[in-house]
Amino acid sequence: MVVAAVAAGAFAAAAAGQTLQSFGHSDSDGVTPLANATDASASFALGGDAPAGAPELVPAVHYTDASAEVQKLNASLQVTQDREARAAAAAKAAADEAARPKTCLPARGTFTSGFGARWGVTHFGIDIANSIGTPIYAASDGTVIDAGPASGFGLWVRIQLADGTIQVYGHMNTFSVHEGQKVKCGQKIAEIGDRGQATGPHLHFEVWLNGTKKIDPRPWLAARGVSL
Ligand SMILES: [Zn+2]
Repeated sequence: MVVAAVAAGAFAAAAAGQTLQSFGHSDSDGVTPLANATDASASFALGGDAPAGAPELVPAVHYTDASAEVQKLNASLQVTQDREARAAAAAKAAADEAARPKTCLPARGTFTSGFGARWGVTHFGIDIANSIGTPIYAASDGTVIDAGPASGFGLWVRIQLADGTIQVYGHMNTFSVHEGQKVKCGQKIAEIGDRGQATGPHLHFEVWLNGTKKIDPRPWLAARGVSL
């Protein structure tokens, strides 16, 4: 009973921040209250302030391990998300490529002249009239094989398709492609002009099948979904 009381007292004293020494003199029945008080104080202190850092080391270590695991999981999740994002982007690119038109209107304007005999000579292309500076677009994917001055055309651009077909664009005011350049359908390559043998600003457009046979571009375009 006394020990318990002393111990309780020690707790109270320690808690109050008082010196435990006074308890040692107030007891006389043979117990060693100071020792008890010291033990009590020590055990009390374990849950108290000074050594409080020690018990926290264990959970701190666990926390570090858990954090590392969380980081690994997050890294793994990020890898998965990145892979999925790349796959989605690739799928979208493939879908966009599949949906991309393969034949495009070479220029907006007024269809002013068709393929065939005209003024005693053969007109080997079609004319689309519009104001100077109107954009001219590649009618197909292909490679620029000429871009520069050409007799009668003023300036011309020729584009060769993968199947060997060659397209001719003539009379342009300016062009923005160069020989050897890959172009895509709908890509701006030049601007309408009236250079060369032209009575007014227009695009002269030709299609050479297999790179040699000059055919009427209008049905060639129409068969590919582009009507004038
Ligand atoms: Zn023409």
